Amino acid sequence: MNDLDFDRLHIWHPYTSLTQPLPTYEVASAQGCTLSLADGRQLVDGMSSWWACLHGYNVPELNAAIQTQLAKMAHIMFGGIRHSPATRLCRHLVELTPQPLQHVFLADSGSVAVEVALKMALQYWQSRGTPRTRFVALRNGYHGDTFGAMSVTDPDGSMHSLYQGFVAEHWFISAPRSQFGGPWDPQEMTELETLLATEHQQVAAIVLEPIVQGAGGMRFYHPDYLKAVRALCDQYGILLIADEIATGFGRTGKLFACEWAGISPDILCVGKALTGGYMTLSATLTTSCVMRGICEGAAGVLMHGPTFMANPLACAVACASIELLLASPWQQRVKDIEQHLLAQLQPLASHPAVADVRVLGAIGVVETREPVDMAWLQSLFVELGVWIRPFGRLIYLMPPYVITPVQLLKLTNAIRQALDRIAA
Ligand SMILES: *Cc1c(COP(=O)(O)O)cnc(C)c1O
Repeated sequence: MNDLDFDRLHIWHPYTSLTQPLPTYEVASAQGCTLSLADGRQLVDGMSSWWACLHGYNVPELNAAIQTQLAKMAHIMFGGIRHSPATRLCRHLVELTPQPLQHVFLADSGSVAVEVALKMALQYWQSRGTPRTRFVALRNGYHGDTFGAMSVTDPDGSMHSLYQGFVAEHWFISAPRSQFGGPWDPQEMTELETLLATEHQQVAAIVLEPIVQGAGGMRFYHPDYLKAVRALCDQYGILLIADEIATGFGRTGKLFACEWAGISPDILCVGKALTGGYMTLSATLTTSCVMRGICEGAAGVLMHGPTFMANPLACAVACASIELLLASPWQQRVKDIEQHLLAQLQPLASHPAVADVRVLGAIGVVETREPVDMAWLQSLFVELGVWIRPFGRLIYLMPPYVITPVQLLKLTNAIRQALDRIAA
């Protein structure tokens, strides 16, 4: 059986059927912002492999970090053991994130970081002798695919109906309406205010993606919304969990999206770009107040400990990625990408196939009027020499920060050509 057939018959891809599989493309290698298909075609990468590869692919500094660490040890358990890649990484994370966040839990993926964040909040209230088991989350939010993370993800988007009776039920409030860059409407806080006024004693935490709602709709909202949520959390003594797994490490133009609102959450999750897209690793940070609450309470410990916690290879490459990012002109790069996306995508807003265009930092989104035929559009993009993975009514770009203007133009031109074909 050839590889194509084996893959089709035996291997699940994300959110797909095995009886009616979508086409897949074999990538043989990747370098810079270029993916090389096994058949020799070259594609400009517009996805950063889902927010992760912000330096592009096959990056000498990151390769070297892994190789150096590999010669020392690939893995070691974290129970009772420490190692310098983990220490160095956590120093970076404590230093780069808002000052109140002082304590780091290293986990193995974004979803697990969210699970840990939820556990931290639950254990915090448990330890204080006033258990709270409900979370408030946002419509259009996305926090991962494990059950805890899914329970705070948009119930329609993550198909809670499939797991009815098994997914914990939390409160969902409307997605923020005031858009980033637009006017702020304080009225939109009424729903949350009303909910908290009566139910705050049950609410362990509010969970949200700051500024950018990613996989749940690629929406950019007003920083004052985030400020207002923080203020309500303070007023009622509720914890705020910020999921920066997609937005972290500069994607929105700030190192962390919370900086747009000048707020600090009580618990912060990072992942995806943490390792420059090299390996799976995530971190959950929290304040001394939450940490003490957990550790001075009945359990005395945070009840979590993945086998591959703080994997040294992943920590080493994460350190190298952060150091490479900080040494680079990343703000200027993100700003240049934003300018290009605005110049090239914004005019498409009047295109007959387009409902909306929005750009923030190194993220460009074209929302179409009708859902796109994913398999057809994907193959068109490949023909046009680009890797862009649309979903639903969203065609979006989040390229590596090192992309060149010529490569970027190839991506935006491909979107324009695709829209013309959709409208034709
Ligand atoms: C991708 C993502 C997750 C889940 O991360 P995984 O590594 O896929 O488990 C959680 N939250 C947000 C905001 C994400 O974008």
